[in-house]
Amino acid sequence: MMLLSVRFGLSNRGHLVVHVGDHKFIKHECYRKKVRWTCSKRIQLGCRASITTHDSMIVRSFLEHNHGTPK
Ligand SMILES: [Zn+2]
Repeated sequence: MMLLSVRFGLSNRGHLVVHVGDHKFIKHECYRKKVRWTCSKRIQLGCRASITTHDSMIVRSFLEHNHGTPK
């Protein structure tokens, strides 16, 4: 698997977000200690990329975006 830089942060609106490489993911749902994040372009563009984290580590990832990296 590629090494990606993962940074947790807050969006302008105060939502928890995680940056993976150049893409931004928004908290979608959490169960137990795992959190599922979906691409910030999911609603807008129907992007299906998502990741699951556990204790700040990515445990599952689907990183096939249907769009380029936002600049
Ligand atoms: Zn995407």
